Amino acid sequence: QSVWQHIPQGPPDAILGVSEAFKKDQSSQKINLGVGAYRTEEGKPLVLNVVKKAEQKIVNDPSENKEYLGITGNPVFNELSAKLAFGENSSVIREKRNATVQALSGTGSLRVGAEFLAQHYPVHTVLLPNPTWANHNKIFPLAGIKDVRKYRYFKPSTKGLDYEGMIEDMQSAPEGSVVVLHACAHNPTGVDPTLEQWRGILKTVQQKHLLPFFDSAYQGFASGDLERDAAAIRLFADAGLELLLAQSYAKNMGLYGERVGAMTVVTKSADVTSRVESQLKQVIRPMFSNPPRHGAAIVVEVLSDPRLYAEWREELKGMAGRIKSMRAQLLQALKDVGAPGTWDHVVNQIGMFSFLGVTKEQVRVMTEKHHVYLTQDGRISMAGLSASKCRYLAEAINDAVR
Ligand code: PLP
Repeated sequence: QSVWQHIPQGPPDAILGVSEAFKKDQSSQKINLGVGAYRTEEGKPLVLNVVKKAEQKIVNDPSENKEYLGITGNPVFNELSAKLAFGENSSVIREKRNATVQALSGTGSLRVGAEFLAQHYPVHTVLLPNPTWANHNKIFPLAGIKDVRKYRYFKPSTKGLDYEGMIEDMQSAPEGSVVVLHACAHNPTGVDPTLEQWRGILKTVQQKHLLPFFDSAYQGFASGDLERDAAAIRLFADAGLELLLAQSYAKNMGLYGERVGAMTVVTKSADVTSRVESQLKQVIRPMFSNPPRHGAAIVVEVLSDPRLYAEWREELKGMAGRIKSMRAQLLQALKDVGAPGTWDHVVNQIGMFSFLGVTKEQVRVMTEKHHVYLTQDGRISMAGLSASKCRYLAEAINDAVR
């Protein structure tokens, strides 16, 4: 008898479970639109040119080694990451009001931030958008924050933002609650507030003294423009607010498996920053001791070399452009096959995903009958689609929704 005999089978992961099911499917027509990873038109993973060039430089650098980084990671990486998010001339950076530490991509950064909040922030209420990226629901409770609530975000009737509901729910939350905001390209809905609506959200956050926690997993990847995708973060930071920020380079630099990201806590003054940083170290040391070198070294090369930086911006535009073109082609295909209802949301949504607005049952039909793999909430990864598959997908959607 095993000492693990009593352990029940765990549920499949909401997102990664889709890929597992996809792998088992023998059909030649199968399409995986589950996981959020960029694919070329040929359906292949993409390593950015700037990443290949940066790696060459690193390999050829005789001073490179495999020593441990410090607990907070590569200090140049941290500085460049903060500048990327807040802007070169941000007062946050000039006044040393950011404690920025390297962490394990977006997820690890969120987890470090959540543990820091659980230990040092007096209000243990976190507000998450409804719906949100599934992992948010687990990260905060596991970090020790018990009161995790939802605020209204998506309005099924308009397939757009429930702005009034969102503001109402923030207004009725406990003073000082932490509010998680997707910096851009909201996952899974692809629906973002307009700049005007962000100003309204900022006002509510200020009135209720909420603490914003920005999750920035798609800067530059969403619109193709790094500045534009950072607009919400900068609006809040420039208003002088204290906030948290989790950054990921998984999508925008295609460094998914390298696990490279940054966690920032913005404070009111440099002396608080250094105390906050000392406590972030206390969180990180027993969690993973120190982060890996390689991905951060790549990011440093790309962000600090003007030529690589310019080339990265072009490659970002290329990825965002292909996704936008997939949106337009899918919409056309849906019209061509005569799918009932309006599908304009497919082109109006932004980022990697489209939230189709289909039921679980319709998802089941798409998967079981047509071998199209997507998450149960009806989210498809536009990056996983190619021109040659739009018609097939539109027919599958059309069949499922009839
Ligand atoms: N946050 C959001 C909203 C995401 O969509 C993702 C990735 O899908 C992440 C965070 C973190 O991803 P990673 O840990 O791979 O950087």
